[in-house]
Amino acid sequence: MNDEQLLRYSRHILLDEIGIEGQQRMVNARALVIGAGGLGSPAALYLASAGVGRITLADGDTVDLTNLQRQILHTHERIGELKARSGQVALRQINPEVRVDAIASRLAGEALAAQVADADVVLDCCDNFATRHAVNRACVSHRTPLVSGAAIRFAGQLAVFDSRQHGTPCYHCLFPEGGDVDEVRCAVMGVFAPLTGIIGAMQAAEALKLIAGAGETNLGRLWLLDGLSMDWRSVKFGQDPSCPVCALGSVS
Ligand SMILES: [Zn+2]
Repeated sequence: MNDEQLLRYSRHILLDEIGIEGQQRMVNARALVIGAGGLGSPAALYLASAGVGRITLADGDTVDLTNLQRQILHTHERIGELKARSGQVALRQINPEVRVDAIASRLAGEALAAQVADADVVLDCCDNFATRHAVNRACVSHRTPLVSGAAIRFAGQLAVFDSRQHGTPCYHCLFPEGGDVDEVRCAVMGVFAPLTGIIGAMQAAEALKLIAGAGETNLGRLWLLDGLSMDWRSVKFGQDPSCPVCALGSVS
């Protein structure tokens, strides 16, 4: 790191749990953020301000007036622009040291696999189960840690998955595909603006901890926030021995 970076990141470097070594890991790291909406906005802003060296921001949508209540990467002036590009502008303004790659499409198939394989950590900030499951499959197959967040109405969720750790669950173990889960999307449902900020910031926190090797990562635990009472609770869950993604036919 150069002198300016040492100053920019000095409040991280002062933390014993991060220090120069942990900050250097962040500078060397690559994060993939899927979705530049309510969760992806605060998550990507903190990754950039904290100095994650390469951030790939993937989103196929354009900025809409109804997004601005919570999607703080975007501005009124950028309505109609691609969210990935709008986010790229915002992140560069926060921290020009960081390389930001914008992917203005919904990642799927081989493109998704290639991006996941190239990332040190993936943040799932999307709004639909099809993408969540595709991202999970790619993360399990490439053994890339996955920080998953969700926010709807006043309810928030957070879970971290790390298939480098043998016998730990994946997203599919928690929410089986085609299971009894209703698809509710912010696109049509209400969502309390700062709730996406709380969960997205927590996703950034877990991702930065994973990168820096600071603290502990709670695997097999789903955190649930009731934004009306501000009560947090957590539910433990284990690997599903019949999970088609991480258990059956897996070498682990
Ligand atoms: Zn699984």
